[in-house]
Amino acid sequence: MDYKNFDADKLGKADLEQLIKYHNQAYWEKGAPEISDVKYDSLMQKLREIDPDNELISAIYTPHVSSMGSVNHSEPLLSLDKAYSLNEVMEWAKKYARTEDEAFLIEPKYDGISAKFENGVLSTRGDGFQGENISDKIPLIELECPNYTGKLDRNARGEILVRKDRFATLQNSIRPNGITYKNSRNILTGFMVLKEQKYISQLEFAMKNLNAFLTLVDYDLFSIEVALGEIEQEWESIISEFEKLPYPLDGIVVKLADKEYCKSLGNTAHHPRGEIAFKFQNVAKESTLVNVVWSFGKNCLTPVAEIEPIDIGGITIKHATLHNYQNVLDRDIQIGDTVLVERAGDVIPYIKESTPGLLRESPLITNCPSCGSTLVRKGPEICCVNRDCFESNLQRLGASVKSIGIEELGLPNIRNMMTILNVKNLKDIFDLTKADLERLPGFKSKKINNLFNELQRARNIKDYQLLAALNISHVGINMAKLLLKEYPLDRIFEMTEEEFCNIKGIGPERAKALVAEFASNKEYINEFKEALFVESTQGGIEKPKICFTGKMPEKRSYYETIARANNYEIADDVNSSLNLLVANDLNEKSTKLAKAEKLGVKAIALATWLEQVEIPANLKQSEQAEQLELF
Ligand SMILES: [Zn+2]
Repeated sequence: MDYKNFDADKLGKADLEQLIKYHNQAYWEKGAPEISDVKYDSLMQKLREIDPDNELISAIYTPHVSSMGSVNHSEPLLSLDKAYSLNEVMEWAKKYARTEDEAFLIEPKYDGISAKFENGVLSTRGDGFQGENISDKIPLIELECPNYTGKLDRNARGEILVRKDRFATLQNSIRPNGITYKNSRNILTGFMVLKEQKYISQLEFAMKNLNAFLTLVDYDLFSIEVALGEIEQEWESIISEFEKLPYPLDGIVVKLADKEYCKSLGNTAHHPRGEIAFKFQNVAKESTLVNVVWSFGKNCLTPVAEIEPIDIGGITIKHATLHNYQNVLDRDIQIGDTVLVERAGDVIPYIKESTPGLLRESPLITNCPSCGSTLVRKGPEICCVNRDCFESNLQRLGASVKSIGIEELGLPNIRNMMTILNVKNLKDIFDLTKADLERLPGFKSKKINNLFNELQRARNIKDYQLLAALNISHVGINMAKLLLKEYPLDRIFEMTEEEFCNIKGIGPERAKALVAEFASNKEYINEFKEALFVESTQGGIEKPKICFTGKMPEKRSYYETIARANNYEIADDVNSSLNLLVANDLNEKSTKLAKAEKLGVKAIALATWLEQVEIPANLKQSEQAEQLELF
């Protein structure tokens, strides 16, 4: 019998039972699953079809844990009955709803180990009546319950799990005995079977970075109340909301909101009647990785998997994303491997898991497929830095054209412009005449006119659009506006690390990268400026203009500093574009006050204005220091 490569649909009852038992043992006792969840589910589903009452289906599996002894539960902790479709959930809900408005609670079904902390003892659910005492794991566990996150120091009932964010750290840091953890479930069972002295040494690294790496999520932490009639309508949005939570989930729990009524329904032999668990059906299928194509992006090369075509949810899938170079390297994904491809909603299909194939070939590359020059690593990416690389330039030009809003011009036409008209940069595109455009395949008079007019229109550009059009990593429209709020366009290319650091949201690492990026893009800015008419917007945000008048208690510069710190622009004179005139005394005779009144410009007293603004902390100190000197 082949325990890993099988087609559940072709198996009979005896084979199914044998396989399920084998993989239960691998999963629950050894903490080392040999097949994917999807594959395991296919066995269970087939068995359900041919023998719905089989004891393997209703059996309760308990994770093998290193135990300090048994604990008898004062109240049985039962597992939930399962539904595999929304229809099954609705059938159940309608059966127990007393009215159309019966309220139900919808909660995440956490993928961890069900446990209870009561009077200082932490125990697993076990068979529901008796669990294992795992109190030695308490120091590793943080509790998250309504209104509290912290030490496990109060009674709770929930699921022990590894949060998604912590898994990311752990996955890269601990690999005891050469075991690679494929998922958080895997890491959890791995640690639960360890005895204290063993895990302490293996966890040393992790403990340094994460105080408690396991979490007990209280079952009451998240829940959404929905009336019977709204369940179907709300279902998908609730699922997508739950998927954003930092916990691994394997389904949804639906229960009656009326706790007393729920309890009064009692239990079947194995499950409470007032609750049901909907198990996620993963839309994932296995295939073989046939080839990896390195596709050009605007800054780097992206690996795209070519797979043996599979059908997921009625759609034929031939390609899947491999994200970036580092991902392929870290996960040792090679051509010839068996891959599990997942497609969730509208997300691009991606490779969830991979198992080494018999014949393997590394898909990693060292030279540019277009120009042949040596590729350079930049963070998780691999990039071609040759300024004359045709494909890289095509992508960069395509991205620039797109970001300054020329809709009519796509990559195939830019490619033709580069090969036929020898276009090299944006300015070359803007300099094209109608006669030039005629030489392009498929360009007739109407199309030529449209593109020509669009180019003329696109020549007028705002400074932040231009900055974003440079395709500098992490500098999109928002970052561009942020930078331009502080500095004019030309000045940004001269900015120092320190100056970048002073801008909200930019840390030292990013500042360092930005200095280098801007330096290496300096030549492009000139290319753009030659081709375009750039309008300065100062980030598109107009600062209100302020003017001061009359004799004031402090030097004029003192108030001007406060005004600038509060995002005002200082004006010397009163005109209709002025937003605010500040006078020490509103009744004093002043030509500025008279002019402001005539023009309808708002004027306020200095004292009032000072109450409205924030005085910078360093200014307050120097003010105090001056006062102290006076005494
Ligand atoms: Zn190249």
